[in-house]
Amino acid sequence: MKFDYEVLITGGGPAGLSAALALGRMSRTALICDDSRPRNAASSHLNNFPTRDGIHPAEWRKLARKDLEKYNTISLFEGSVLSVEKSGPGFVAKLSSDKTFHFKKIILAYGVEDKFLPVPGYKELWGKSIFHCPYCHGFEVRNAKLGLIGNGDTLFFMLPLIYDLASDLVIFTNGKAEFKEEQRALLHKKKIPFTENTITGFIYEGEKLKSVSFENGENVERDGLYALPTFPFKLKSTIGEELGCEKDHFGFYKVGERGKTSVDGVYACGDNASGAHSVLLAAASGGMAGAGVVHELLSEKLLE
Ligand SMILES: Cc1cc2nc3c(=O)[nH]c(=O)nc-3n(C[C@H](O)[C@H](O)[C@H](O)COP(=O)(O)OP(=O)(O)OC[C@H]3O[C@@H](n4cnc5c(N)ncnc54)[C@H](O)[C@@H]3O)c2cc1C
Repeated sequence: MKFDYEVLITGGGPAGLSAALALGRMSRTALICDDSRPRNAASSHLNNFPTRDGIHPAEWRKLARKDLEKYNTISLFEGSVLSVEKSGPGFVAKLSSDKTFHFKKIILAYGVEDKFLPVPGYKELWGKSIFHCPYCHGFEVRNAKLGLIGNGDTLFFMLPLIYDLASDLVIFTNGKAEFKEEQRALLHKKKIPFTENTITGFIYEGEKLKSVSFENGENVERDGLYALPTFPFKLKSTIGEELGCEKDHFGFYKVGERGKTSVDGVYACGDNASGAHSVLLAAASGGMAGAGVVHELLSEKLLE
């Protein structure tokens, strides 16, 4: 059977680009497909990445793509992968160019889609005054009046970080609080207020949050908010599910040490395959998935 490339990398974010680098360095042929919907698009600074702390996310991707230029076995298609199906010993993929290509292996690196509260202003403030992660955006709002939108155990997992960051903190459960007795006692002891009122809007100037508005007419002044995810995460594509890749209860593909999914020949990395969401960790897992694919390809080649 004739293959167009050895590997299809679906997604050219930190995970996919790092997988490509590993493949390129071992002279494997790969096509990266990317349709320009990076997770951190709303942000103008990429933090917590050694040597590039504070860089613009688009600039980081540009540099990572530039690194790949010298590896002539790696190609880039700026568009979407529409479908991937098993075909003989490999896979056939249809791209948004309407072309189909055959591959031996597939790497899923298409990231996750953040869910936004259906409240006016939320989308506009996302990544500017409403954040998902204190490592990405925390230092910039240290000692500020912060709010934490969340509930249940996820909230109490994040609480120590945001409590330490804030000059004062209010919890917004945006509905009935689902707290255990000891969790309520902790909030009481540390004098951390919470409100169950429904959020109806935000008052802000430009990208700067001023206050959070509630259905009872109340406004709570805040400089920034952390919004916790609800599970399962939504991935940016369903290609993995269609191939039969198993997921965990957080919504991520179950993978082994080198990114191998439950389906032979299919690997996953980055935000697709772990709840530890950062550029550095996505790049690391992309590198591991790339190495996993290289090892499998070369082991098969040795046996030909
Ligand atoms: C607002 C915000 C700010 C953040 N800031 C930071 C930060 O400062 N530091 C940090 O370490 N982390 C930060 N993160 C987290 C970080 O962005 C992610 O963990 C990281 O980008 C994950 O990399 P990835 O390659 O898995 O996915 P992504 O970066 O999301 O890349 C996936 C790529 O796949 C493409 N794609 C999806 N489906 C298809 C398809 N069918 N065909 C072709 N292409 C497809 C998308 O267009 C996208 O370019 C931030 C996240 C958010 C939401």
